[in-house]
Amino acid sequence: MSGPTGGPGAPSAATTVVGVIGDPVAHSLSPLLHNTAFAALGLDWVSVGFPVPAGEAPAALAGARALGLAGLSVTMPHKDAVADLVDECTAVARRLGAVNCVIRRKGRFVGDNTDGEGFVASLRRGATFEPAGRRCLVAGAGGAARAVVLALAEAGAAEVVVVNRTPGRAETAAALAGSVGRVGRPEEAGSFDLVVNATPLGMAGAGAPGAEPVDPALLHPGQLVVDLVYAPRRTPWLARAEGRGAVALSGLGMLVHQAAAQLRRWTGEEPPTDRLWEVATAATDAAPG
Ligand code: NAP
Repeated sequence: MSGPTGGPGAPSAATTVVGVIGDPVAHSLSPLLHNTAFAALGLDWVSVGFPVPAGEAPAALAGARALGLAGLSVTMPHKDAVADLVDECTAVARRLGAVNCVIRRKGRFVGDNTDGEGFVASLRRGATFEPAGRRCLVAGAGGAARAVVLALAEAGAAEVVVVNRTPGRAETAAALAGSVGRVGRPEEAGSFDLVVNATPLGMAGAGAPGAEPVDPALLHPGQLVVDLVYAPRRTPWLARAEGRGAVALSGLGMLVHQAAAQLRRWTGEEPPTDRLWEVATAATDAAPG
């Protein structure tokens, strides 16, 4: 780990670099998670955040190619644009039209999407919940919701119902689940095994304070309720769901497991997921809001 230009653990001319691109990116936990894993695995790799404004993804990808980066983690607002900029997409990234992870293979950039995989892994790991045969409701129809809908359907969910403010986007998201997908209404929430908030409602600094994706009064014991929002880690909605007797899971698990999936793709090694979980928890404990 020591290089000719630095002390032990310091990056050197031989260090393999991955980048995190987004805007904003300064508060992203991804470099922390990646670098924690690289250190634990004894790899001379480093992850660096690069603020890339909207519209600049083509220049960022060209720069990453020229600089020989081994991969990229892609966050808002670039996930859709990067899908059109890589040399090829995996089947999941193609269906979602969105890339959150770029892997350099033999000089070519492959676009993948680990959000849905991370979500399902967080259900299994965080709540021993297996989606196969279960009825699932997803509130929201943006990038995160679409990844969740597709992953739940691919994991064998019996039904994946989407509720969203804009009906047309709900149709598009529900279509990803094929024959088990449909558009629904928030009032149906009491009849599902799994209820997911995939909107920013409840996120620190997000608008519409007090607005909730579904009425917590509809939630009850026997349900798993997941809020993809992880800052704050326990949103008021999630707390109210728990107060109603539902099992409550924060979006931090999805964040950790989608990062773990990226690390697997890049390095071919098994990342220390429990350690990543501890680090992410400590970082969100320390964060304001
Ligand atoms: P996005 O693409 O902008 O989609 C946002 C969705 O929320 C849209 O369906 C939008 O409805 C809906 N929405 C926004 N404001 C709303 C409001 N005031 N009332 C009702 N609905 C509203 O965002 P995204 O990338 O999917 O992210 C959604 C959330 O998931 C964010 O909080 C993000 O931080 C979180 N997330 C977490 C993880 C994780 O690892 N835990 C990963 C990705 C995202 P319309 O279609 O009507 O506009």
